[in-house]
Amino acid sequence: MIVGRKLEDLDAETVLSSLEHQARQGVDYFTIHAGVLREHLTFVRNRTIGIVSRGGSLLAKWMLDNGRQNLMYEIWDDICAVLRRHDVTFSIGDGLRPGGLADATDEAQLRELETLGELTERAWRHGCQVMIEGPGHVPIDQIEFNMKLERRLCHGAPFYVLGPLVTDIFPGYDHITSCIGATMAAYHGASMLCYVTPKEHLGLPNKDDVKQGVIAYKIAAHAADVALGIPGARDRDDELTRARAALNWEKHFDLAYDTDTARAYHDEDMDVDTDFCAMCGHDWCAVRISREIEEFVSGKDEHYAWDGPRVSAALTPEQREILEKRGSLEPEEIHRLANKTRRAMDTSRGQRAACHSETSAADRAQELQAEKLDPVTLQPPAQP
Ligand code: SF4
Repeated sequence: MIVGRKLEDLDAETVLSSLEHQARQGVDYFTIHAGVLREHLTFVRNRTIGIVSRGGSLLAKWMLDNGRQNLMYEIWDDICAVLRRHDVTFSIGDGLRPGGLADATDEAQLRELETLGELTERAWRHGCQVMIEGPGHVPIDQIEFNMKLERRLCHGAPFYVLGPLVTDIFPGYDHITSCIGATMAAYHGASMLCYVTPKEHLGLPNKDDVKQGVIAYKIAAHAADVALGIPGARDRDDELTRARAALNWEKHFDLAYDTDTARAYHDEDMDVDTDFCAMCGHDWCAVRISREIEEFVSGKDEHYAWDGPRVSAALTPEQREILEKRGSLEPEEIHRLANKTRRAMDTSRGQRAACHSETSAADRAQELQAEKLDPVTLQPPAQP
């Protein structure tokens, strides 16, 4: 829909033909923000950060510009027919999800959730599968309430949540702030977690940011599965604990979710496989001492027995890279990276870049970006 078009071009025919086209290409699910209604917009007025969903904000602007109801809501039955025909699942988007703790569980969010319940029933009547998109930014004490309310208002349709972030003051660490909320949400019934990277709110994630985000969310999902007592969920934890108790490092690394990182961190200090590690050293290793105490069974399982020290193979290039990334950037390097776009745009200190929307008209800003920045990353092209 968006390639080569503007928001004003949005009409029923374009939406339906784009959905049909993409469904034929094999899309599994579409996120459609049909729940943001004109009558909900009044509740957004006093929000701290307004509408943070891209689909939600675009459709809100379209409704206000055209003085009409949400187009997606108006043509919902036609959309259902397309999705049913191609067996595509609905992700019913939460266009009014809160974008900060201050807006969590407010009237706008809850009114939209009621509409999502109505849309769910209508989609089910067409024989479509549905899942519901959830917030966003929610303090820990409101997460359980949000999960239960969704199940009630949306008739038990699967709920998938974007975090939620449980605090707003850690940009750069939002894979962690949101993974805490995701763990709570999963424990209280979330069906799917949508991962967040450390670049959330700050820019486009790279490969390593994606890895950090995915691992944080694997932790959230697994921690919740263990806490919910799902049969077998804890088996690997117990196996790793037995390997750890036996000080069997090879097995310990093999069972670790991210084997490369675990091995690289261990081998950074000691590449010899010994019955202790560099943390406490031989004489003070609690696990080693425990194995010597005859009253304990701990660490003596013969399947995990450790048969003597070995020297690890040298670090692989990937492990070396992991270790190198641990070092934090020097202030000069941060400054250099932070000012790349400013330099590309010949912007002096204290001024907005020439391509900023407050400095240039939209067309001029786009021209400047096309001229001076990489079209995909919107960063200055890499130096040869
Ligand atoms: S040295 Fe300390 S950290 Fe390392 S295995 Fe022993 S008890 Fe654990």
